[in-house]
Amino acid sequence: MASQARIEPVGIGMLGLGVVGSAVARTIVERHGEQDPAASLSIKSALVRDLERKRPVELGPSIVTLDPKSVIANPEVGIVIELMGGENPAFDYISSALRAGKHVVTANKEVMCKRGAELLSIAAENDVQLLYEASVGGGIPIIGPLVNDLTANKIQGVRAIINGTTNFILTKMAHEGADFNDVLSEAQSLGYAETDPTADVDGFDALYKISVLARLAFHTEVPIEAIYREGIREVHAKDFRYASELGFTIKLLAVAQINKDLGLLARVHPALIPIDVPMATVNGVLNAVEIEGDLVGSLWFQGPGAGPNPTASAVMGDVLRIVNYWGAPIARRVEQPQLALAQMDDHVCQYYIRLTAADEPGVLAKIASVLGDAEISINSVLQKDTDAERRQADLVIMTHPAIEASIQQAVSSIKKIETVVRLDSLLRVETYAS
Ligand code: NAP
Repeated sequence: MASQARIEPVGIGMLGLGVVGSAVARTIVERHGEQDPAASLSIKSALVRDLERKRPVELGPSIVTLDPKSVIANPEVGIVIELMGGENPAFDYISSALRAGKHVVTANKEVMCKRGAELLSIAAENDVQLLYEASVGGGIPIIGPLVNDLTANKIQGVRAIINGTTNFILTKMAHEGADFNDVLSEAQSLGYAETDPTADVDGFDALYKISVLARLAFHTEVPIEAIYREGIREVHAKDFRYASELGFTIKLLAVAQINKDLGLLARVHPALIPIDVPMATVNGVLNAVEIEGDLVGSLWFQGPGAGPNPTASAVMGDVLRIVNYWGAPIARRVEQPQLALAQMDDHVCQYYIRLTAADEPGVLAKIASVLGDAEISINSVLQKDTDAERRQADLVIMTHPAIEASIQQAVSSIKKIETVVRLDSLLRVETYAS
């Protein structure tokens, strides 16, 4: 009989014991002592804010603590799992743990976006690992493939639906014709959206995640200020109806793509996508990531982007990767040149413009003339009478591909046309290779 290699017991320190932390702790506790790779792990200390709070996992009063040092400076702890969230104090605790020679696993996209480069270099200086698979896409393995399996590829683009809350809201709006505010309230009551939904609906969460993916895919730091961000508050039920008539649906996309002349552009915004591309079928709280590599071609990852168990799956995967290679030298990454960053103003795509206009002759001609002056040509127009009494109509204009800066300039001139009552929506159409 082949003898099994003995796995050394590894002490775990937890920073946070909330939704994900409790699921991770439960996995460790339940598998302790089993014939299981996680059996070698035991939780030595777990930091929380509130000792009185009832938790779905029992760890005992000697383990749950309010003192961060009993996790990050505890000699019995070999791996620190950070599941608190936010930039600070997470950054301070993670960097102290790394400097104290502990490996760290985190699910924190905000700290990995804003301070990831610093943390990764502190980890390298201290010869320890910092792994963060759960920070993007919850249970979907996406960081690992980018770091390991796809490293021979020159990545051309990453396009993703990486925020479950907004995808839930947009899916409901598309399927039920419901308005944003009603669906947001429903998402909040179901626990899919926070009481303060800003991070999700205004696109910050997706921005943090695309920044983390861009760093890996393109070996380039894309600071938050360089990422174009627009949330979903301005998407209306009507836009789904008109988009559908034109053969599209609407999703919040996070994209990082290379344009060979302009550089790397990262952007987060709602976009019209053709109903026959795979992304159009990613519904509810699911996430999906598409990666285009020069060798591998197009790859597609889809799955649960959040939730306690899927996220615990990713966290535990990282923990066990560290355990399996315990004591082995840590691979050094080869430095690669940073790419130039492109500006959103130079982005080129088709645009969907919806406006309310006076239902009288000549309105469309005036709009077409403004667009023509900006060298933007019209692909199609939908006109729907909406208010016979006020003699107003919805005009939906699809342009041919145009430059972002030109469309913004044209739109501000269109708003000044007397017979244009208001501009209701300006949405980008995502370009798919035909
Ligand atoms: P959560 O339920 O709010 O849990 C946070 C935990 O951290 C709580 O136990 C809290 O203590 C503790 N904590 C927060 N700030 C602290 C501080 N300053 N000092 C001590 N303890 C502190 O959050 P979560 O949903 O588990 O998320 C954790 C991380 O995973 C975040 O980075 C999040 O972005 C990421 N993530 C979450 C999901 C998901 O589905 N929830 C998916 C992917 C990634 P108390 O319990 O005492 O308040």
